Amino acid sequence: MKAAARTPRRPRKATNPTQKDPVGVYCRVRPLSRADQECCIEVISGTAVQIHPPEGYRIFRNGEYRETQYSFKEVFGTLVAQKELFDVVAKPLVEDLIRGKNGLLFTYGVTGSGKTHTMTGSPGDGGLLPRCLAMIFNSIGPFQAKRFVFKLDDKNGVDVQSEVEALLERQRREALPTPKTPAGKRQLDPEFADMIDVQDHCRVEEVDEDNVYGVFVSYIEIYNNYIYDLLEEAPCDSIKPKPPQSKILREDQNHNMYVMGCTEVEVKSTEEAFEVFWRGQKKRRIANTQLNRESSRSHSVFIIKLAQAPLDADGDNVLQEKEQITLSQLSLVDLAGSERTNRTKAEGNRLREAGNINQSLMTLRTCIEVLRENQLYGTNKMVPYRDSKLTHLFKNYFDGEGKVRMIVCVNPKAEDYEESLQVMRFAEMTQEVEVARPLDRPLCGLTPGRRLRNQAFREELSRKLELRGGPVGSGPEEPSPAELFFQSFPPLPSCELLDINDDQTLPKLIEALEQRHKMRQMLAEEFAKNVHAFKTMLQEFDSSVASKENYIQGKLAEKEKTITGQRTELERLEKKIKTLEYKIEILEKTATIYEEDKRNLQQELESKSQKLQRQASDKRRLEARLQGMVAETSLKWEKECERRVAAKQLEMQNKLWVKDEKLKQLKAIVTEPRAERPERPSREREREKALPRSVSPSPAPSCGDPAELGDSRAAPRAPRRSNSCGSISVASCVLEWEQRGPSCEPASIPKARNKAGAEPGSAWPSPARRRGMCWSRVLEVPRDREELEQEEDPSCRSAPVAPLRPRRSRSAGERWVDHRPPSHVPTETLLQPRVPRAITVDAPSERALARCDRYLLTHQELASDGEIQTKLIKGDVFKTRGGGQAVQFTDIETLKQESPTGRKRRSSPPNPDPAGDAADSEWTDVETRCSVAVEMRAGSALGPGFQHHAQPKRRKP
Ligand code: ADP
Repeated sequence: MKAAARTPRRPRKATNPTQKDPVGVYCRVRPLSRADQECCIEVISGTAVQIHPPEGYRIFRNGEYRETQYSFKEVFGTLVAQKELFDVVAKPLVEDLIRGKNGLLFTYGVTGSGKTHTMTGSPGDGGLLPRCLAMIFNSIGPFQAKRFVFKLDDKNGVDVQSEVEALLERQRREALPTPKTPAGKRQLDPEFADMIDVQDHCRVEEVDEDNVYGVFVSYIEIYNNYIYDLLEEAPCDSIKPKPPQSKILREDQNHNMYVMGCTEVEVKSTEEAFEVFWRGQKKRRIANTQLNRESSRSHSVFIIKLAQAPLDADGDNVLQEKEQITLSQLSLVDLAGSERTNRTKAEGNRLREAGNINQSLMTLRTCIEVLRENQLYGTNKMVPYRDSKLTHLFKNYFDGEGKVRMIVCVNPKAEDYEESLQVMRFAEMTQEVEVARPLDRPLCGLTPGRRLRNQAFREELSRKLELRGGPVGSGPEEPSPAELFFQSFPPLPSCELLDINDDQTLPKLIEALEQRHKMRQMLAEEFAKNVHAFKTMLQEFDSSVASKENYIQGKLAEKEKTITGQRTELERLEKKIKTLEYKIEILEKTATIYEEDKRNLQQELESKSQKLQRQASDKRRLEARLQGMVAETSLKWEKECERRVAAKQLEMQNKLWVKDEKLKQLKAIVTEPRAERPERPSREREREKALPRSVSPSPAPSCGDPAELGDSRAAPRAPRRSNSCGSISVASCVLEWEQRGPSCEPASIPKARNKAGAEPGSAWPSPARRRGMCWSRVLEVPRDREELEQEEDPSCRSAPVAPLRPRRSRSAGERWVDHRPPSHVPTETLLQPRVPRAITVDAPSERALARCDRYLLTHQELASDGEIQTKLIKGDVFKTRGGGQAVQFTDIETLKQESPTGRKRRSSPPNPDPAGDAADSEWTDVETRCSVAVEMRAGSALGPGFQHHAQPKRRKP
């Protein structure tokens, strides 16, 4: 179907989109025609029916046949009377009609299911249509407008005119010749005469009495998708009947669909309305007969339009304002039979027509389906209203122009089973569609009760006039009392005196004049009376004016009230505006504060990021500097290593030289005769002679020549060498130690010994030991006697060393000089050296040494693993021949702390690896090797956390 050109959209009628009502679907089950018929539908409750297949259709499943139940808003069984059905289904629609709302009621079902019976009724049993009409006229009867006061136009609108205009129009129409058609006869078919005799005084409560009402009815038929006007007055040619002209559908300015040019008859009573319906019904029948149509195949639509307009302020005449007119309509539709075509056994044209009719119903079904789908799933599919005239005509109802109700009529007979199933399914689906509820029409704004007040006033006026001199408005033929009086005046007799003795004329004249005088007086009295009556009327008029004034005042007061209300509202809104402005101000301020905060935070962020960048660059610089330092230090150490290697080479050469010397001496001893050997003192002298030679190749100037160490009280070089074998000035030795720091080589004592004439082998450690000692800044002595003896030169063993080192007697107990340099850090270890009877000094002094025979130096240094390492260096104090004090170091106790999680391997490998060489190879660092060498020599097996190695004290004999 081609889409029609769209007209510009106009505002729709006010509906309430939030409140929706579902389409009310009711079911009516008609009684079976014969008692012996098989029944397939049962009413199981007030809202449900059960349909089961008849004998021939039964589908057995698990031994039972399938039954289906359908629920409706209400189900009416076979015994339910028309009145009951009307009260439930149609009454609310009539109430809505009178309140200015639209309604649509249609009956749906197969042919013979009771649709027409329900809608129109049967003789003696009026259906919904006559009952609706009766209720309408029962309700608005006394308030109906004079005929032609309301005038429907041809655009589905309504106009209003004054009663005089309406009267003139009536006279004009009555003057026109009316076509003499059979339908024109105002006589009801006796068949339907008692249909309207519903004996039902049902009426709508609370009808607006300040309105006047006009009812218009139209009756159309939709057949084969054509619309026919069943009330059209067309000359009837019984010989050659003309086919009726179809009508077209139009949309009015409120988007309501209407049949253009359709006859709409104003009716003033139920009888008149039903007579019009009956006329249409008759025409339908004739057309069906003449055109060989089947009545059950057409849809009939009876439309009741109700126009209402308010009375003016006096309650006298209808308000002449078109905008104040409300036009509502109730459409009562008796649909064609919903059965399928093949069931009717139609042929040819009839088949095509039936198809079209069914097409209308199909479209109706489709529209309902789409509406339902749109509402259930929120889709926006186009509803195909335009596909059939039927749906197109009623599209407004589904778009929310009024209530929609459907009565599903079913015949419970078995033959209708399948069709009834279809009907039920459609009905159930229809129930799911919701229609927007129309809003109440606005009030006209005039004070209610106008009609009653006006009536009361009229009644009162006429009563008063009646009391005061007969009814008002007596006809002109009835003379008033004054007129009668004038007529009864005695005529004046002739006043002419012809005879002097005439004694009759004057008395007659006097009598007449007296009579006239009397009458004049009576007239004066009558006049006065009338004046009084007039005054009274005037007063009454005044009072009525006053009452009207009061009314106007009341109206004014009302308006003022409204204005006050509006002013209050205005004030409220102004206050609200102020509050909102204040809120806006606060929000703006808050926004400004937040922006300020944001700026500050951004600045802070920037400064922090700059700081971070600075720190990063500082870090990079520091890294570079440290790398430089590391490189420098490694370079320095490399040089140092090279220097020490050179020194070691030199030392080895010296050793070689000493050994050569020894070998030479041995050779000389062996080769010399035994007798020539000198005695012990001579050996001593020899030795003393040889010693200077042995120490002369001092390895390096930095290795601590005693002369260089600067003992102020040291003896001259030669005597000192000869006098102090194996001992050295404590002060110089310690001084050297403390002054040199970590890089100083601790070989001063051994060298001093050498210089003092001690044999290199006697106090000199083994090569491995010396290698360890070389870097550890410790003063050590050989570990045991065997080692000492192995390395001692035999010639040296025989040399008497003891006399050179006179030692204090120990019988009186040892006395210690406890030398703790001021830089000593308390270690807080468990094992603390406790020296009894000690003289504690922070720098060695001659005086303290002279009073003691043992010396203890507490030396602290940083071990290679970063821990503080405390060494207790012990020695014996001897008096030198020159009268000074010398200390011979005899023992070192190493006190070292280690963290359990620290680097154990570096500090003390508890189980020396059998593959020691492999392990040694890892310790390339010289300092590490030194510390390990010291600890291994100490040979302690203390736990990994703490090592305190005390070496047995050894003393040279
Ligand atoms: P439809 O209009 O659906 O074709 P009708 O209204 O013409 O059916 O009904 C067919 C017949 O059934 C009529 O004679 C009618 O009187 C009768 N009938 C239908 N419904 C009822 C009912 N509820 N009670 C009694 N008779 C009914």
